[in-house]
Amino acid sequence: MDKIVAATGNPNKVGELENITSKFGLHVISRDEAGVPHDYDVVEDGETFEDNSLIKAEAIMKMTGLPAIADDSGLMVDALDGAPGVYSARFAGEDCDDDRNNDKLLDLLKDVPAEKRTARFVSVITLVYPDGRVLQTRGECEGRVLTERHGTGGFGYDPLFLPDGLSGTFAEVSQEEKDTVSHRARALAKLGDLLKDQASGSAE
Ligand code: IMP
Repeated sequence: MDKIVAATGNPNKVGELENITSKFGLHVISRDEAGVPHDYDVVEDGETFEDNSLIKAEAIMKMTGLPAIADDSGLMVDALDGAPGVYSARFAGEDCDDDRNNDKLLDLLKDVPAEKRTARFVSVITLVYPDGRVLQTRGECEGRVLTERHGTGGFGYDPLFLPDGLSGTFAEVSQEEKDTVSHRARALAKLGDLLKDQASGSAE
């Protein structure tokens, strides 16, 4: 089984990556397991999810000498012209947390009616190899932002996001249910297709 390092330190995301990549014969190891120092922080100064995802994967690949996989993701809200977007993690400022980010989102949308609260989660996954190969895919999940939190599971904006096609927010449904529609699952499924193409190409 191929070993790849998860460039993210976010345990929620590593869990989601592992859950899905194992289906494609990839064994994800954590930054810790790969010997990346705890205080090693990659500066995400790109303007797009694509840029930041590549920046993170390349930095960890160079540091470990192993293939590395990164997810850069966020929530794009139509009524806010796509914000918080690439700033999703630090929406409420440098010292923010999920709770403050959700409060800020609710506040900005307080006068926005239900039909205009449409949004999508976006995930860009990048897998880079030490030999220079780069595989990158994007997944999106449409839904809308509710007016109050529902559910206690998940992370980030999960309690406020009602995905199209599911009966509860991402914080109310199981991880398996989230994986049936989530932005990250969709990006990873596309990555799986690219990996299959790569494997059949090298077998020819
Ligand atoms: P990143 O780690 O820089 O990619 O930041 C991603 C941020 O987007 C997270 O900190 C969350 O706030 C948000 N986010 C991304 N994916 C999800 C998700 O699946 N559920 C809830 N929030 C998410």
